[in-house]
Amino acid sequence: MYFEKLTHWALFLALAFVVSTAFGQQPVARKNMLNSGLAEVQMTSKLDLQTIDRMGGNIDWVQGNVARVYLLPEDFEQLRASGFSLQWIPDEGKLSLQDLWEKTRHTRDPLDAYHTNDEIRTQFALWQAAYPTLFKYDSIGMSVLGRPLLVAKLSDYVTTDEPEIEVKYVANMHGDETVGKENCLRFIDTLLTGYGIDPELTELMTDYEMWFLPLMNPDGNYSSSRYNANGYDLNRTFPDRCDDSVNTTTGRPIEVANVMNWTASRNFVLSANFHGGALVANYPWDNNCTGGDVYAPTQEDCLFVYIARRYSYYNTPMWNNSAFPPCGITHGADWYELSGGMQDWDYVWMGDRELTLEISNTKNPAASQLEQFWRDNRQSMRYYLLEAKYGVRGTVTDVVSGLPLRASISVNSIPYLTFSSALHGEYYRMLRPGTYSISFSVPGYGSQTHSVTVAPNSYTTLNVQLGLPPDIAVSPDTIRTTVGRCSNGSASYTIINNGAGPLTWSAVEGYTNYSGYGSAVGGDWRFIDSDQSDGPVYAWKDISSAGTLVSFSSDDQTLGPYSVGFSFPYFGQAHTTFRICGNGWISFTSTSTAYENGMLPSSGAPLNMLAAWWDDLSPQRSGTQVRYWSNNSDTLVVTFSNVQSYSGSGLYTFQFILLSSGKIVYQYNSMGTLRLNSSTIGLQNAAGTKGMAVINNQTYIHDAMAIEFCPHSMITPAPLAGTVAPMSSQSYAVSVNTCCVPLGTIAGILAISSNDPDSPTLHVPVVITVVDAPPDPVTDLTIYSEGTNALLKWNPVPTASGYLVYRMSGAEQDYSTGELLTLVPITATSYTDTVTAAAAGVRFYQVVSVR
Ligand SMILES: [Zn+2]
Repeated sequence: MYFEKLTHWALFLALAFVVSTAFGQQPVARKNMLNSGLAEVQMTSKLDLQTIDRMGGNIDWVQGNVARVYLLPEDFEQLRASGFSLQWIPDEGKLSLQDLWEKTRHTRDPLDAYHTNDEIRTQFALWQAAYPTLFKYDSIGMSVLGRPLLVAKLSDYVTTDEPEIEVKYVANMHGDETVGKENCLRFIDTLLTGYGIDPELTELMTDYEMWFLPLMNPDGNYSSSRYNANGYDLNRTFPDRCDDSVNTTTGRPIEVANVMNWTASRNFVLSANFHGGALVANYPWDNNCTGGDVYAPTQEDCLFVYIARRYSYYNTPMWNNSAFPPCGITHGADWYELSGGMQDWDYVWMGDRELTLEISNTKNPAASQLEQFWRDNRQSMRYYLLEAKYGVRGTVTDVVSGLPLRASISVNSIPYLTFSSALHGEYYRMLRPGTYSISFSVPGYGSQTHSVTVAPNSYTTLNVQLGLPPDIAVSPDTIRTTVGRCSNGSASYTIINNGAGPLTWSAVEGYTNYSGYGSAVGGDWRFIDSDQSDGPVYAWKDISSAGTLVSFSSDDQTLGPYSVGFSFPYFGQAHTTFRICGNGWISFTSTSTAYENGMLPSSGAPLNMLAAWWDDLSPQRSGTQVRYWSNNSDTLVVTFSNVQSYSGSGLYTFQFILLSSGKIVYQYNSMGTLRLNSSTIGLQNAAGTKGMAVINNQTYIHDAMAIEFCPHSMITPAPLAGTVAPMSSQSYAVSVNTCCVPLGTIAGILAISSNDPDSPTLHVPVVITVVDAPPDPVTDLTIYSEGTNALLKWNPVPTASGYLVYRMSGAEQDYSTGELLTLVPITATSYTDTVTAAAAGVRFYQVVSVR
């Protein structure tokens, strides 16, 4: 039966060996201490500990200015030669254990209540037979002299590896420090008999998988030695982050290698190793990498101090130990620094928080005292393990398959990782109350970082699904299209997913990256003026007779609201009313009377503002007229005529034209030459966050000038988001609008965000060539006379979006010198010119199609 188990474990060890050698190979040079003795060394300061360590001493214990040190005879002489005061002392631990052995060897119960490794095996077999669903044991390998390292597992459904909190207690790694071994056995007995009766013990059995290695150093125990059979100190020969940082079993004592492989095969959350010779709970670091015996906290010092106190709290002699005030705990290196301890290794490489618990000042007290040591520790042993449940926990799985993933989990960028289990994907990370940034990564998968808050004495569940990463590419590298002036065009592009996971992408409306003429803040608007050869045509709309007069009675008034006459789209909102401020601006919502012009956009300026000539104006003075006019269909005009500045300089005539398409035109009829550098022309949205200023106190405007504002984004992807399957591609369209854009080549950017971890946002260049496409001619224009009116009819032009009608009086001439009758292109193929009798006479008409 037993040898069958060994075969099973031999297979496991072979696997684990492959894993561990993958870390690299680093031989470990530790001293064989078989011929050592125990010495007491007088120190002048704690700095002497470094010298003792360097000269080959294995420090066992420090109190005040005395260090107890294991020394080889030659190192003893070397220390004496260098001026230390030291003397050999009896190794009481070794002697008393030898004495016990001499008295009892070969008897049935050689150490009274102490257990040999063979007796542990016998006891384990009894428990396994009695509690087959709660207890099982195995060997994790052999000692130097071929003694099995016996490990017990306790849990409900003990033969199943459940996604539960894994904890371990290891004892007697120093062969002559024996109390922990006996306490482990008593704790196991308590758990088995208390299961289903005691709620806390039942919780431990139900929610935890508890592992015990009561005798890590059986050879040392049999020979009454601290060391293993080859003279190595098992608590000085683990990998060490400071001076032996290659995590390999190569070259290490076989007991250490076996424990490393076993630990690496589990997912321990919390553990402790038991020692004797002092009474204190010792927490990392044991080695602070400085060579000095000083307090060098881990990045989780708060947690380590807390759990050390939790153990000590229930152990009254430890808690009250005046040698380690307060609370009977110590930071390892603050007491004395050591390299190669199991505690630091567990934390650095295994994601396991471990304490070194010194539980008896006498290394192996008389067996009659074991009952008292058990009483001192039994509460501590349960409450310590119960701490492992607090923090954050959950599972890490593949988002597609749902299969568990072994992830590396880091908290607040602390380099010492926790791992989820490969079998179930579960993880447990102990944390004190607080908010943490926690990152999950699996090779080949996209990483994730989450913020998690842990409440006191509680745990937070965070389940994470990781996906294989997608890999985005866009074809062509540059999207190119040729579009007529002020028209809509389109281009197609392909999103390619070369990755193993699904690609989800979204695009924002593209923008042009030229920052000069006509650029806009936020990309929502752009403008072009009539001075550009391809800009709008200045065509004053005279509403001096048709418009409604707005009477300002004093300076700085805002009047209204007035009806737009149709629904006007502006920054995603529809407006049907507006107000007029006497200071040269209108707004759909603002009742401000702001006269001091400023930069746009600005939350400090009137909101939803259209500023054709924002300056301190005085429209109440005689000679000024402010009028508005709407055709109640698609056109609103607001005109300021002959308005003076507040200071009395200048005489300005300008107008706003709003079209139901959303287009805005400001026109400047007569602006004179005075005070032209002290106004703002622009517009902004309802929050003052988007918009633009054409000028802000610059000289720019002149008579007979038009500025056209276009609201649409230049580059609009359709759709705005999508998904592309792994190793696949999909074609998409992007529409392009060239209104308010000069002729020539415009460079733009289409920004595509995706879940490709290497390329969160891809900027795809878009090159738009704007060409002047001449209008197609209107054919079959017929004019009918209806009284003094003229009715014009013509055939539809397929490429036309509308038509402009011009009237020339007296002579046939080019339309560009005529009077524009249609303020905006009309879509009908007929037009009635209502002419007063006074205007009767010979007239010529021209109809021009607009693309
Ligand atoms: Zn020890």
